[in-house]
Amino acid sequence: MNQLEVHVDLDAYRANLERLASLASSAQTMAVVKAGGYGHGMVPVARAAREVVPWVGVATPTEALALRASGDTGPLLCWLAVPGEDYRPVLAAGIDVTASSVAQLHEILAAAGETRPRVHLKIDTGLNRNGSARSEWPALVEAARRARGRLDVVGLWSHFACADEPEHPANDAQQTAFDEAVAQARDAGLEPSLLHLANSAATVTRPSSHYDVVRVGIASYGLNPIPRGDDLGLRPVMTVRSRLAHVKEIAAGEGVSYGHRWVAEAPTRIGLIPAGYGEGIMRAAGNRCQVAVHGHRVPMVGVVCMDQFVVDLGDIEAEPGDVVTLFGSGDDGEPTAQDWADVLGTINYEIVTRLGGRIRHTYRGGR
Ligand SMILES: *Cc1c(COP(=O)(O)O)cnc(C)c1O
Repeated sequence: MNQLEVHVDLDAYRANLERLASLASSAQTMAVVKAGGYGHGMVPVARAAREVVPWVGVATPTEALALRASGDTGPLLCWLAVPGEDYRPVLAAGIDVTASSVAQLHEILAAAGETRPRVHLKIDTGLNRNGSARSEWPALVEAARRARGRLDVVGLWSHFACADEPEHPANDAQQTAFDEAVAQARDAGLEPSLLHLANSAATVTRPSSHYDVVRVGIASYGLNPIPRGDDLGLRPVMTVRSRLAHVKEIAAGEGVSYGHRWVAEAPTRIGLIPAGYGEGIMRAAGNRCQVAVHGHRVPMVGVVCMDQFVVDLGDIEAEPGDVVTLFGSGDDGEPTAQDWADVLGTINYEIVTRLGGRIRHTYRGGR
């Protein structure tokens, strides 16, 4: 094992996708694998997704092209580009693209060449992030209608702001706005076959938002989109492990790591883990998070450094070389990504996605 290993259980990933697809009933499922598959590794995750669901989604055209370069051939949507994006290789690779403005639609058309772009028009229904402003939607629909001979408007879509709070009034408001935008597009003569709005949280809590496709990210990785929500029968896919690089005894009153932000109250044994914020382990995890050694939880003590951090082993029998689990499914007593998120005041998405640096990914269940 390297200094830090992200172990990814692709059997669990596929099982999660199948579970979500069953919740989505008649809608097709899109596996969202952006940002390196939320830290799990984009290409292996997408390859596994292809075995069980029809769609894969990523944010940027660059990510989509990387998937195609890996041999991926199935239905693939990307949705985030800046002006000046070179759509030619994207369209030539048969990737579905998103238009959020008239200018973007024109850029896509200008790059079409011999291809017939498959375009999903995106309406902003209240997230106030990406997507056409509602005031600009009629113009975007009209521009797409006029270009009908040269492209296919295959989808209309939007994204929720508050789906992780199922009772939040914004959810109903956004869905109503989406229905209105769809009706406007249909009145103007567009005939999209794919309407899509739901992310993971809406997939599990809001069947009325499923339409034709659901876009699932976090839940497919076995993490609950609603932190204290129902048990969905999903299994965390990622386990993060390292090994003790060193074990030593310190006396009462000795400080640990930069700034001596932790001082031993009694003589104890400390263990060194060769991973730090260079691998995306938050510096703030020091003195707050726990890891597991031989099934026992031990506290991270002192600040996390760039390449290493320290745990207080207390009286746990542990030797250099022993495995340390930072977080995982929780089955063997280790914390989960949700536990880390709760302690650090963030969301499970950030805990897994920010991992990087000198990490080695290993996979179970790859084919
Ligand atoms: C990331 C993303 C998703 C997936 O969201 P989850 O909450 O992880 O399921 C879906 N749609 C869009 C537009 C996204 O950016």
